[in-house]
Amino acid sequence: MIIDTHAHINDEKLIDYFDDIKKSLNTKLKLIICPSYSLDTMKSSFLLSQEISEVYSALAIHPNNADEWNEETCNFILENYRNKKVVALGEYGLDYHYEGFNKLLQEKVFLEQLELAKKCKLPSVFHVRDAFDDFISLLSQNLSQFSGGVVHCFDGDISVAKRLLNMGLMLSFTGLVTFNKKEYLHDVIKYVPIDRIMLETDAPYLAPKKYRGKICLPQYVEEVYNEVAEIKNIKREVLDETIENNIKKFFTKLVI
Ligand SMILES: [Zn+2]
Ligand SMILES: [Zn+2]
Repeated sequence: MIIDTHAHINDEKLIDYFDDIKKSLNTKLKLIICPSYSLDTMKSSFLLSQEISEVYSALAIHPNNADEWNEETCNFILENYRNKKVVALGEYGLDYHYEGFNKLLQEKVFLEQLELAKKCKLPSVFHVRDAFDDFISLLSQNLSQFSGGVVHCFDGDISVAKRLLNMGLMLSFTGLVTFNKKEYLHDVIKYVPIDRIMLETDAPYLAPKKYRGKICLPQYVEEVYNEVAEIKNIKREVLDETIENNIKKFFTKLVI
């Protein structure tokens, strides 16, 4: 059995598939980490983690929702981070992809959550899109506030990967690695030491090639494992065990 470290199973697009997802737990998937991106999704991710033993929660405000960062959202994290099922702050970071983003606000919200993660003694799940230079410079200026992190859905090149690895980050790969137009990620995966890799779906988005055009389900993470095993030229069993160890070491509150 394998693990999906990043699936938005609280997303409304997955409501109709929820029975399927539940069935995959304990057959295909050992566990799922459900990140959040808003106050509502923090609440639903937390709730799911309380209801389903194989679901864990990460709490944060996404850079695209930076204007939702306020006392109420911060307090939700402060009130719940000690819960045994809350294993990280995430997903938060920088996202310059869509026009009209507020760079200064994103920076502020990023740095405040970075500091909060340190205070909570939890690792961070970072979302970084079209913003690697600023992310790297902000993090390197604030390393004293850094309590460990993974850049989820990594889509950069080898030089970016190198800079992130040098700062002690883990890199997490999605179904993007199965896309023909993302061949460069194969070189990145060859380059990144296997003990610095995690795998995820980012469901309901980014269905692997085999399920192209469909809603992505967490159990499809198997396609990502298959692809990475092939790229790294190792057996699936070896990959599965290594990735599980990486996850255990990183998310120290997980019970596997
Ligand atoms: Zn993300
Ligand atoms: Zn996500």
